[in-house]
Amino acid sequence: MLIDNHARTINYLRLAVTDRCNLRCNYCMPAQGIDFVPSDRLLSISELKQLSGLLVGQGIDKIRITGGEPFVRKDLMELLQHLSQLEGLKDISVTTNASLIGPHIDQLKELGITDVNVSLDSINRDTFERITRRKQFDTVHGNLVRLISEGFNVRINFIVLEGQNEQDIIPTLEAMKHERVSVRFLEEMPFNGGAKNFNTIKWNHKSILDHITAAFPHYRKLESPKTSTSINYKIQGHAGTFGIIPSFSRTFCGSCNRLRITATGDVITCLYGRPVANLRDLLRSGQGDKQVIDTILGAVSSRAKTGFEAQALHADTVFDSSMTSIGG
Ligand code: SAM
Repeated sequence: MLIDNHARTINYLRLAVTDRCNLRCNYCMPAQGIDFVPSDRLLSISELKQLSGLLVGQGIDKIRITGGEPFVRKDLMELLQHLSQLEGLKDISVTTNASLIGPHIDQLKELGITDVNVSLDSINRDTFERITRRKQFDTVHGNLVRLISEGFNVRINFIVLEGQNEQDIIPTLEAMKHERVSVRFLEEMPFNGGAKNFNTIKWNHKSILDHITAAFPHYRKLESPKTSTSINYKIQGHAGTFGIIPSFSRTFCGSCNRLRITATGDVITCLYGRPVANLRDLLRSGQGDKQVIDTILGAVSSRAKTGFEAQALHADTVFDSSMTSIGG
């Protein structure tokens, strides 16, 4: 069991497999992209397998694969196949922009990987293509429809962006009315590779809920797991649900059960903190599993209590990075 210095059990690993992405979402990185790291600095497939095994041995029972765009990585399915055989790992999920997932859907099903979060910041083609700076709407939408119709447990991540997609909140809920999906609205965070700075947001969790309430007054709040970051609701007459994630307001830190490992092996114990160790260098120095586990235990035993506390420790640099490097 990994238990942090605030008595929180850490059983959930968000494992980034690359910092590269084929989209250029304007809230995530500048138009020209970021300085992607040389590929030999990314964790190799065998390092990813080794780390996953070590962490599952320490009580991690849920791994979400993220990035960058995970499906940019040609050997991703080899990792997923390995994870699907790890005893003790109960839950494997993937966060993706859904542009490259199409050829892998059958194999994901065969491996029993059915939890897929799809980032879709608008159901409107023009808005989507303006935000992502790429013409991928048809592919993404087609893959989303296929995932839903093939029975995957799909959650849509929609970052609410002032002046960009607020007009698409309600149409996106309308479009998904008959689908058994969860549409989750997230607050924007300033992890955009220096594209813009901000200290407050117009679209916080309260204003998002007010906006939805005005259009759909008949909804009820759902019970959610204690460690859930989303507050979840069901609109009367809708097949699925919607959720709101206060990712900027950070009202959920008290029950945080997450650990992040970036594609370069950095250990991040809070999204709003800086990396506290690097496991790739340890693995490559040949120091052995014990050293890696001790480093992870050390990281977990000195976590900030909240995202605000973590941010205060590195106030000058915390927002320099992009979510594509952190592994959102
Ligand atoms: N490429 C995959 C995808 O698009 O889902 C996985 C990586 S992406 C960095 C993970 C999540 O982070 C996505 O849902 C994305 O919308 C979110 N994200 C990226 N930048 C963000 C920001 N500045 N604020 C809030 N969420 C952000």
